[in-house]
Amino acid sequence: MKQFDIVTIFPGIFSAKGGPASGGDSCCYFDYGIMRQAIKKKLIKINIHDLRKSTTDKHHTVDDRPYGGGPGMILMVEPIVKMLKSIKKKKKTRVIMLAPEGKKFDQRQAERLAKYDQLILLCGRYEGFDARVEKYIDEKVSIGDYVLAGGELAAMVVTEAVARHVPGVVGHEHALDDETFSHDLDYIEYPQYSRPESYKGQKVPKILLSGNHAEIKKWRQSKRKKRK
Ligand code: SAM
Repeated sequence: MKQFDIVTIFPGIFSAKGGPASGGDSCCYFDYGIMRQAIKKKLIKINIHDLRKSTTDKHHTVDDRPYGGGPGMILMVEPIVKMLKSIKKKKKTRVIMLAPEGKKFDQRQAERLAKYDQLILLCGRYEGFDARVEKYIDEKVSIGDYVLAGGELAAMVVTEAVARHVPGVVGHEHALDDETFSHDLDYIEYPQYSRPESYKGQKVPKILLSGNHAEIKKWRQSKRKKRK
């Protein structure tokens, strides 16, 4: 089983614990679709860790003002290091800081990260992390060149994209073989159609109705596209 450990100051954003996928009744993102099935089938495990539980003061302080001044708050180093120490490590673990300046996440990165037994995902908030946290991580990952308010959406994106590469998570055995980005990052899947055969003048290509699987395969190969 592949394990994802997500560290956040807003655990309520996730409901891997407590939602229908784990027998509760509150719903959130991972309680739907293939992620719900993957959790139920125990192919993956998602632990959500509340960073405030690693604090020692009575206000559960996780952030403070930056030295030297400037706007906003940053996440303090101590609770994060304490949290990282408390998360039980598997054999092959990768500690990832979600950060806009990190290595850009794509399908190749998802495949690479799927080889680890455990991913620990640190979600930043406010102005980000105390720079000293970097000594305790393996890499920084960005989901794109834009700045979000927190790392939680990025953690969801990375978790789902990686989980899809865990055997059994995507139902059909060969569903990933021809998918967009599967061959290379410019590859786009062939077009697909379902009922009705004709919709407001747009017809399903005849070859797809022929039942000739060899010809359908050829047609699909010819319709694969390269991203411009
Ligand atoms: N002050 C930081 C800067 O200028 O780089 C931005 C901090 S951002 C408001 C707060 C947190 O959101 C970050 O620490 C990171 O965890 C997360 N985040 C924002 N954009 C992200 C992105 N594109 N990819 C991954 N994480 C992101």
